[in-house]
Amino acid sequence: MAASFQPGGRAPAPEPLDLVQDFVNTEIPDWNRDDIATPEALAAWLRARGLICAADVVDGETFVAARALRAALRELALANTLDEAPAPARRAAIDAAFGAFPLVVRAGSDGPGVAPAGSGARRGLGAIVAVVAAARAAGTWERLKACRQETCGWLFYDVSRNRSSSWCSMQVCGGREKSRAYRRRRAGRT
Ligand SMILES: [Zn+2]
Repeated sequence: MAASFQPGGRAPAPEPLDLVQDFVNTEIPDWNRDDIATPEALAAWLRARGLICAADVVDGETFVAARALRAALRELALANTLDEAPAPARRAAIDAAFGAFPLVVRAGSDGPGVAPAGSGARRGLGAIVAVVAAARAAGTWERLKACRQETCGWLFYDVSRNRSSSWCSMQVCGGREKSRAYRRRRAGRT
């Protein structure tokens, strides 16, 4: 796949974490865009990344679970931005979303590691969950963040030394946030 578009001239997340980034960024709330809006579109997305075979299809249950997984991953990425774990009730909901895609440990040609269990589309989507676990172990997960501009939520990879970025693009979302804060301060004075 060609490198996906990144606002603000950022580089995409390193492989294989870019898979998680691309998956979550199939939905862009601000632009009213969803690249996996149907089971067929999700199957095409998974097929294009070699995560399922040509014969595999996405059933209705897996489609719903995939969308819950995408929302859960965005929430965890926002938790990285805010440096604050989601509330226990939210964590339970995120766990339930992950639970639809169980993992196993396999010996692997380059050593043991987590891998998706199951078959077909479940396994293909499970590969995304396996990347999350591996990234957490590698110390890259914490740098995958959701833009804190609430109508954006774009996932970006924060390469700043002290991991301090909060917006996908300072020019776009950071600027918007700043002008809003400025207006609030002005309104407070009058
Ligand atoms: Zn943004």
